[in-house]
Amino acid sequence: MNIQDLSLLELRDAVAKGDLSSKEVVEFYLGRIGKLDGKVKAFVEVFGEDALKRAEEVDRERKGLFCGIPIAIKDNICIKGKKTSCSSRMLENFVSPYNATVVEKLLSEGAVILGRTNMDEFAMGSSTEHSAYFPTRNPFDFSRVPGGSSGGSAACVSASMAPCALGSDTGGSIRQPASFCGVTGMKPTYGMVSRFGLVAFASSLDQIGPIARSAEDCALLMEVISGHDPKDSTSYPGAPGYSFLEKLRVSESFTLGIPKEFSQAEGVEEDVLKLFEDAIGVFKDVGFSVVNVSLPRTFSYSVATYYIIATAEASSNLARYDGVRYGLRVEGEDIVDMFKKTRSEGFGREVKRRIMLGTYVLSSGYYDAYYLKAQKVRRLIRDEILEALKRCDAVLVPTSPTVPFKLGEKLDDPLKMYLSDVFTIPANLAGIPAVSIPCGFSNGLPVGLQILGRPFEDWKVINIAHRFQKETDHHKQKPSLEV
Ligand code: GLN
Repeated sequence: MNIQDLSLLELRDAVAKGDLSSKEVVEFYLGRIGKLDGKVKAFVEVFGEDALKRAEEVDRERKGLFCGIPIAIKDNICIKGKKTSCSSRMLENFVSPYNATVVEKLLSEGAVILGRTNMDEFAMGSSTEHSAYFPTRNPFDFSRVPGGSSGGSAACVSASMAPCALGSDTGGSIRQPASFCGVTGMKPTYGMVSRFGLVAFASSLDQIGPIARSAEDCALLMEVISGHDPKDSTSYPGAPGYSFLEKLRVSESFTLGIPKEFSQAEGVEEDVLKLFEDAIGVFKDVGFSVVNVSLPRTFSYSVATYYIIATAEASSNLARYDGVRYGLRVEGEDIVDMFKKTRSEGFGREVKRRIMLGTYVLSSGYYDAYYLKAQKVRRLIRDEILEALKRCDAVLVPTSPTVPFKLGEKLDDPLKMYLSDVFTIPANLAGIPAVSIPCGFSNGLPVGLQILGRPFEDWKVINIAHRFQKETDHHKQKPSLEV
């Protein structure tokens, strides 16, 4: 049995039946990490011994929906007794006093946590180059970025150093790295998954979601992590009301909407367009119908709107890192000097840029002109997308306008970096579910396709992705990492 080729359900069943032990599975993945992570650098910390101990425990009980399956967790999701640093100097030594709800749920279903993964500092970025520690590399080409901000999570799944991972997505941070690393990643509907224990970046946009090798694997993860949580007042009060796994079997033929404006968006590469067209062909072969929809505001205004709202919320959320309650503290002559020194040394350049932008758009005199205006535009974008989704079950767009770019290529040009989120940001502004799946390769580099659905119809985007993956094998292509 080749462990790295087993789906999550196969892994789980093998462990539950005793055909494989969780310890063997964990040893296998720790072995891969040992061999490969020196090059990929997806992990900030690997919980070697703890993971093995935990696997032995799971092997004694052999139960749960996630029985014995190892998982990697992004470094902004709290794991009790472990550091949660958001890849920032500010929280480098911060130890979580409690588990995030998603972690609690995974553990109670028998998961084994392998380690925490590298990310852009405080989830701000699209390349994982803004980590305070080191950049992560794309397993398909080490000279390129894995995307971000959940770059470590996507890269470790891509390199088979973990069968699945959790990421967080505020403007594309699960989907864009999934696309860059040739894996499947999903941002759930806002409120579908508890944010309790996720370090806040922009609270009205943040969602935790799965990164795995297939839509089916994501369905299992959603089955475990979704649902109402009284500890998160923005989590949806009703249960999803369905099983993601059962819904994989729905065989209805859905209608897919193609927004005609996207191909004119700035900087969309030709191969991305071509592979997108090919994918539409596959959907037609499956029996789906395809209609044109129009989203003119969405593609023109989303990036600008997002970079006002997200930075405003970030400036407020990150005000808590003041050297007093937790995290770094750098002593100064007086308290103001201490604040200054702590924040100057604790935050990296990109985080500082966002805090300054956010503070500016919220300041008196500019609040109405920028922040309030952006909120209004956000509403119009959401209305436009929901209107389009009345005419179809899901909207298709590429995940990223480009293939993975070179390390350093966009580091000195923040605007260029921000533009790589043009296709992912709309789902966050509208609060809708979206999944990214591999749809082919351009010169050996993965390209992803996105499926955007109606609020709380998360099962449907997964079902559509799953049916595409039954017909294709792009998601089965792995980087060649000879070891
Ligand atoms: N790349 C986007 C940003 O820099 C999105 C980040 C995210 O989703 N966390 O803000």
